[in-house]
Amino acid sequence: MIVAIDGPAGAGKSTVSKKVASELGLNFLDTGALYRALAYSLDRIGIPPVPGDKLDEELKKLDVQLSGGAVFVNGADVSKEIRTPHVDNIVSPYSALSQLRAHLLDLQRRQALFGKGVVAEGRDIGSVVFPEADCKIFLTASAEERAMRRYKERLVKGEEPVYEEILSSVKERDRIDSTREAAPLVKPEGAYLLDSSDMTEQQVVDEIVRIALKN
Ligand code: C5P
Repeated sequence: MIVAIDGPAGAGKSTVSKKVASELGLNFLDTGALYRALAYSLDRIGIPPVPGDKLDEELKKLDVQLSGGAVFVNGADVSKEIRTPHVDNIVSPYSALSQLRAHLLDLQRRQALFGKGVVAEGRDIGSVVFPEADCKIFLTASAEERAMRRYKERLVKGEEPVYEEILSSVKERDRIDSTREAAPLVKPEGAYLLDSSDMTEQQVVDEIVRIALKN
């Protein structure tokens, strides 16, 4: 079984998808972590998000792997490093590059071959990665609500977030992700639209499980 969950930054896809996967006994695939891992690695070695031979050359040197809920680049666990405001701000221009997206396609598709299947979340899961998914969900919420969730998450972590900065970063990522040429963020054909603005996390999980089992 393949459950595809797409939607904009901060809609709650990761938390919800993890719970849905555990309730359905499926694997969980956070594809955003893969894009973050490549953006982080390229930025670190000074390769800008510009298409061309140089990017191809560098991509060939980067081996991304998933294991036990962690993401590795050339054997190093980068799971923590990819969750920073800096990576939030640089990831979308890298994700807009079709060369970079192609580099991650097989790895994502292979995850569906393990066990009983996968709950995969991202921006192009139902449209490009698994267009044949058994169940497609487009999970969204208002930009203000999504920014507020991120703001609270950071407060809990002991950081000193600024709501307006998070809101503008969320809006900018939405803009780049949905207007890019390569695999833009869209509601895939046949996807159920779920607006989580006024729903609790558990309500969203229950609704997705119900839809998945009905299909
Ligand atoms: O989901 P998350 O916020 O971690 O994703 C980070 C970024 O990775 C997104 O803003 C988007 O640019 C990119 N992404 C993508 N396609 C996916 C998943 C993530 O382009 N399937």
